[in-house]
Amino acid sequence: MGGQIGVTVTPWGTRGSLPAPGPESRRYGGNTSCVEVLCDTGTLLVLDAGTGIRRLGASLKGGTPCEDGSSNRIDILLTHLHMDHIQGLGFFNPLYNPEMEIHIWGPASTARPLRGRLSRYLSPPLFPVHLRSLPCKLFLHDVPNEDLVVGDFRVTAGFVCHPGPTVGYRIETPHGVIAYLPDHEPALGTQDFPGDPEWTSGYAIAREADLLIHDAQYTDAEYRTHVGWGHSSVSQVVAFAGLAGAKHAVLFHHDPVHDDEALEAMLAGTEGVNSGLEISIAAEETAYRLERGKLKVAPVATPA
Ligand SMILES: [Zn+2]
Ligand SMILES: [Zn+2]
Repeated sequence: MGGQIGVTVTPWGTRGSLPAPGPESRRYGGNTSCVEVLCDTGTLLVLDAGTGIRRLGASLKGGTPCEDGSSNRIDILLTHLHMDHIQGLGFFNPLYNPEMEIHIWGPASTARPLRGRLSRYLSPPLFPVHLRSLPCKLFLHDVPNEDLVVGDFRVTAGFVCHPGPTVGYRIETPHGVIAYLPDHEPALGTQDFPGDPEWTSGYAIAREADLLIHDAQYTDAEYRTHVGWGHSSVSQVVAFAGLAGAKHAVLFHHDPVHDDEALEAMLAGTEGVNSGLEISIAAEETAYRLERGKLKVAPVATPA
């Protein structure tokens, strides 16, 4: 393949809890969690299926190249089954294409298998189509304990601190490491956060990540009244990223009541706190690019 080789990471939904579209969220977006990770070789992962997945589905030309020469495989990695992470799933076009082979991965639960839990939403009366009636070739999997290889990526899932079974994902690519922890409260139950790395929720997922996409739902003041809700403040993200040795932290899972100005004020509050860490605000369809050799991580405009 000619030209520059690398991995493009594109948020299609950056919001937590509830979609919040409108003029006040124009810069950073109002759709709920969904991130595309695409290698120039064609390997594709979709992180979560919030409402942002609808526009992602409309933009896709295909999926991960397969041994038979087709490129019809798509892997969707769900961190957990809270509504903001699955709400867009039924509106993901490739599910209605019989040529597509779609694998949905999610955390294991002692309650019910993944299919049974997802079907509670994807079935009448909440949704008109049964999961079993979707035309694509659909495979559902509990995330395994061992690493998962998809094309050029190696994926590790790890349970993290958040209400209900919830995992974070570490994606090792030929061009750098991406960690995705959209719903995460590593400070819960610790007096001295960040403390011992080995005992900190999410550390193994985020260790030395080039790009750490992390829950940044609250200001410090808001966090004090939301302890145990499963989310982090921006200053906790900075502390966690420092502990993990991450290079670039992406503030993600924006609270629906935070408008663009509020998010920018939260970012401004991190200035000078950790000079070795780059920080940016996740914005819909504003991609990050990792390239072999320089491993440069910088927001770039999504190509038209
Ligand atoms: Zn969430
Ligand atoms: Zn959640």
